[in-house]
Amino acid sequence: MVLLDGKKISQDIKDELKEEVSKITQDGKRPPHLVAILVGDNPASQTYVKGKMRSCEYVGYSSTLMRLPSTISQEALLKKVETYNQDPDVDGIIVQMPLPDHITPQEITQKIRPGKDVDGFHPLNVGLMTLNFPCLMPATPSGILELLHRYNIPTKGKHCVVVGRSRIVGRPTSILMSRGGNPGEATVTICHINTPPEELKRICPQADILIVAVGKPDLITADMVKEGAVVIDVGINRVPSPETRSGYRLKGDVEFETVSQKASHITPVPGGVGPMTVAMLLRNTLNAYNQNLATVGEIIPE
Ligand code: NAP
Repeated sequence: MVLLDGKKISQDIKDELKEEVSKITQDGKRPPHLVAILVGDNPASQTYVKGKMRSCEYVGYSSTLMRLPSTISQEALLKKVETYNQDPDVDGIIVQMPLPDHITPQEITQKIRPGKDVDGFHPLNVGLMTLNFPCLMPATPSGILELLHRYNIPTKGKHCVVVGRSRIVGRPTSILMSRGGNPGEATVTICHINTPPEELKRICPQADILIVAVGKPDLITADMVKEGAVVIDVGINRVPSPETRSGYRLKGDVEFETVSQKASHITPVPGGVGPMTVAMLLRNTLNAYNQNLATVGEIIPE
């Protein structure tokens, strides 16, 4: 069994980006600049954002962490986003989810200028991705594909089962896996909350590549996995643990101990898909900086 080491691959990507940024700054140009907006004080969100800021520092980007109170109105948040949309010294903007209940996340996602949407959540980027045009790609799905690519895992003609259909992980991953290109060209089945449990148990063992993004610890057990399958576990669940100081530990959606004995390749949690998401966010920020995808920002009516 091969452990798909997202921590190592993401470090490789960060080192590649660091080198590119160093060339940029040696040429006397400013480095890429990422702005992260954090609303409220959700502890998990704070950890994620701090990790992203640390990674920016590592590769040599400028970064701004804009903390806003959970009481901020939607209108005020939209105004803040617009300020960064208009700022020519800002290349990428992320708004850390989840947002307080009185704010509609889609309104915020759609406000971010598509050319600065380094999370790849804007409907225009999602549409361009679906049609296989250049765009800022959703970070977690492209991190999954990058992992498959760097481990030379063939996907063409394989049966890929994606469990979960969220806007940010399951659905875009299913599109990327079925698109033309490498990785891609897979036959894709998507399962979701209305897939009856017995159907899930019937479909998952057919997967050559099983990608799980649900948020339910140990949903996938060894009897649901084909011998030799590639298993990508996106889930990050906090489960109680008396052995840790925090009182919890992180667990995926896949029962690692048993499934790893059947899989040919598997991602650990933590250390699998999570670090890849950050690496792809950084790569998107450099792409946005280079305006490789500049037309993305220009064709949307403002
Ligand atoms: P989400 O928005 O809650 O989506 C979960 C999806 O799973 C939904 O499509 C839901 O179906 C489906 N689902 C729920 N129960 C199911 C079941 N029993 N069988 C089959 N499908 C089921 O979550 P998400 O944002 O996609 O995140 C999923 C997990 O990945 C979470 O643990 C999250 O923390 C983690 N995550 C990790 C990263 C990373 O970088 N590693 C990034 C993002 C998320 P419906 O659509 O019908 O509700």
